[in-house]
Amino acid sequence: MFLKIDMHTHIIPERMPRFAEKFGYDGFIHLEHHKPGFARMMKGGQFFREIEANCWDAQLRIEEYATHRTQIQVVCTIPVLFSYWAKPQDTLAVAQFLNDDIARLVADHPKHYIGLGTLPMQDTTLAIQELERCKAIGLVGIQIGSNINERNLNEPEFQPIFEACQSLGMAVFVHPWNMMGTKHIEKYWLPWLVGMPAETARAICSMIFGGVFERFPALRVCFAHAGGSFLPTIGRIEHGYNCRPDLVAVDNPVNPRDYLGKFWVDCITHDPVMLRYVLDMVGEDKVTLGSDYPFPLGDLEIGAFIETMGLPEATLEKIYWRNTLDWLGMI
Ligand SMILES: [Zn+2]
Repeated sequence: MFLKIDMHTHIIPERMPRFAEKFGYDGFIHLEHHKPGFARMMKGGQFFREIEANCWDAQLRIEEYATHRTQIQVVCTIPVLFSYWAKPQDTLAVAQFLNDDIARLVADHPKHYIGLGTLPMQDTTLAIQELERCKAIGLVGIQIGSNINERNLNEPEFQPIFEACQSLGMAVFVHPWNMMGTKHIEKYWLPWLVGMPAETARAICSMIFGGVFERFPALRVCFAHAGGSFLPTIGRIEHGYNCRPDLVAVDNPVNPRDYLGKFWVDCITHDPVMLRYVLDMVGEDKVTLGSDYPFPLGDLEIGAFIETMGLPEATLEKIYWRNTLDWLGMI
């Protein structure tokens, strides 16, 4: 049996302060535990999503993912809790609360959990301050949004944060959220089905064309959902770079295809044909096992489809755990 580390999972503290009351304005997430084992995530007064105990109960999660032959989860918060839109000091307070909760979880269950933090990305100084604290309390990286209040990840204010991640050896997980065009595509769950993959492509293109990987060559970045629509459209992106460098290559002269193999992506494709393509594109050293547990759009069988692909054992070993530890700087 293989060791399996699921590096894309979300968790929330069972008890959350009423941040809206504490800070005097609305928009923060709180939980209403309306029946045993279930809670309503509320954003302001509005219902956001119903979650189950496996969203917060550490032991229940361990037992649940053990049934899918997975021993370890890398955990991070749910993107809707990023709270980048709030006053920076308040986002910092939310981040500290969430990061402390994950640090405690990791300390209590060191064989079953690895933790990523969240930062007040809209304030460079506070973000770096909290990044340093994340490292001190035992987290090994951070999760950030695909955009920060509509600002792309190539913007100057984010560069010192990436620089600090590089120098502290903190891994970066980029997760889609705040999906562009949401209000035009609300029907059919399109923000999740169309918006999220586009958001991840937006983040990768912003980082490539903005020269982030040139500036910080030792920065270790992993993108959610197999890089969203980036890899399936790399041909178009490269062609755009070739035919209109005046639009595309204004900040970085390097061909976007040259970055394939320099960042990690998780395996969440729900499709063996697509995963084989992803492996071809970024190489078998850069694909990690992820699930998006415990949410229904995730791969809740935690990579069972990979077992049907007939991949060599050495490749499976890389996907299941080795590449994740490499991304996290743990081997
Ligand atoms: Zn996720």
